Amino acid sequence: MDQPTALHLALPVRRLFVGGNWKMNLDLARATELSEDVAVRCALLAERVDVAIYVPFPYLQAVQRALGHHAIFLGGQDLSAQREGAFTGQTSGAMLADLGCRSVLIGHSERRHGLGEESTHLCAKVSRAIESGLIPVLCVGETKAQRLGGSTRAILAEQLVGSLEGVSLASAKELVIAYEPVWAIGTGDTATKADVEDAHRAIREVLADLYSAPFAQATRVIYGGSVNAKNAAELFACEEVDGGLIGGASLKCDDFFAIVSAACS
Ligand code: PEP
Repeated sequence: MDQPTALHLALPVRRLFVGGNWKMNLDLARATELSEDVAVRCALLAERVDVAIYVPFPYLQAVQRALGHHAIFLGGQDLSAQREGAFTGQTSGAMLADLGCRSVLIGHSERRHGLGEESTHLCAKVSRAIESGLIPVLCVGETKAQRLGGSTRAILAEQLVGSLEGVSLASAKELVIAYEPVWAIGTGDTATKADVEDAHRAIREVLADLYSAPFAQATRVIYGGSVNAKNAAELFACEEVDGGLIGGASLKCDDFFAIVSAACS
């Protein structure tokens, strides 16, 4: 497998990354208003941490305008595994980049588990994102039954290897991994700090095997699953946690601002 560029290896510290996943929420007026509020309130914080919002496709252009010159990353919630052509209803990485996106979510559990997206399909999506100059945020995570059955580490390894095998990272600007235990997404149940640290270590071990130890050390691994304004600081203080992917709490500017602030403290 191709080795990543020196750019990855030269990263001295892992800058924290906080993404807001709006899912299929809001309408055009509220999406525009929320992005204007986030842009203004998070502007200074975005100098210290990477802040991204993952927006429904139809609102990307309006949100891109609302974000203006602010440093908030615009992101898509998914992309096609294909480059272009007769793929009705799909959106390519090049189209996202054209609209000003800098990042894209891949394999969110609502697609991996909810829609049955297979890891091999996700591999192609990671490649398409990289080709389009987008930072892929690859989501992995176990179900409650898998955790209770003691197979969390094995599931994470299976999902990572399946979604990255054969993917050339040589031209990638970067790869972010989001550890999102399925049972913690949108439920109010948050994984314990110890469980998150263990899962993130397991993820880095797999990345080290797939690529290299320096690459694994330089790659940001963020946590998602019921992160809110109250628990963010504690989670972000974990050595292995490089930020968060935020669902419900990203729909309120005050909460999202508090979470991004926690990443800066
Ligand atoms: C998510 O959608 O990725 C997520 C983590 O949602 P929530 O924060 O609502 O649990």
